Amino acid sequence: MQIIKTAKELSETCRQWHREGKSVVLVPTMGYYHEGHASLMDKARTLGDKVVVSLFVNPTQFGPNEDYASYPRDLERDAAIAGEHGADLLFTPEPSELYAPDAATWVEVPEMSNLLCGITRPIHFRGVCTVCTKLFMLTQADYAVFGDKDWQQQAILRRMVRDLFYPVQIVGVPIVRAEDGLALSSRNVYLTEEERAQAPEIHRALDYARTMVAHGETKASALKDAVLRRWASKLPLGRLDYLQVIDSNSLAQVDEITGPATMACAVKMGKARLIDNIRLN
Ligand code: AMP
Repeated sequence: MQIIKTAKELSETCRQWHREGKSVVLVPTMGYYHEGHASLMDKARTLGDKVVVSLFVNPTQFGPNEDYASYPRDLERDAAIAGEHGADLLFTPEPSELYAPDAATWVEVPEMSNLLCGITRPIHFRGVCTVCTKLFMLTQADYAVFGDKDWQQQAILRRMVRDLFYPVQIVGVPIVRAEDGLALSSRNVYLTEEERAQAPEIHRALDYARTMVAHGETKASALKDAVLRRWASKLPLGRLDYLQVIDSNSLAQVDEITGPATMACAVKMGKARLIDNIRLN
């Protein structure tokens, strides 16, 4: 596996691959790998000839009071994992490599970014769309692989790619969970033992809502009430950021389930902010 740090080298390598008729699959990440990241790389391996994994803690998607500086990092371990999971190239640029000092161009999808996570993280998705655009441009990737855990991110990127005719196909990968149901996340390292013990209740309650829908419940308010009641007793260390029933594609809030619906949430526990979601039907 090649490790590349400059945009120029990344672009030249991918251009050469394209000239040789090879397809390129991109897996954008911020590192500190767990099995969720590994499953994205495994999926990428099945989609095309060359797998590019980018490892970049993107400063522009962090708010001023967020964890950019303390975000967990372990390049050596990550490089080993990416190699084991079939990456051909690991791209690990410094921020100055992707953002010129006078960089002034942003890509955003405001209608889908001002809700859910965007309410407490107003600049987050603008940073995500902008850095993904840079990575798509540099790699000219045929496919880009994203996890269903960050459902809002994936829906926004699908819309961006569709609206602007980016020649890349977005591929989603199911959420990888710990045995007790907690969605794997690099930020789970922030949890204390006590918080970690309660955290699986996030998923259990969402799964309970899914069961209610399977038994005929269609009202979002009834589903939310049931989840919040469970959390009140079983997740006392959690502080609710949001809990919403949304249209799975448009992300619009849904009162009555008639089409594809997802329940999405963010819960703060101590230093961590955990997100999760479940497809309800
Ligand atoms: P991150 O490094 O946290 O920015 O995540 C990089 C990619 O991995 C994103 O597409 C995430 O959605 C995906 N991802 C993170 N955690 C999981 C998980 N538990 N299961 C599946 N995909 C995940």
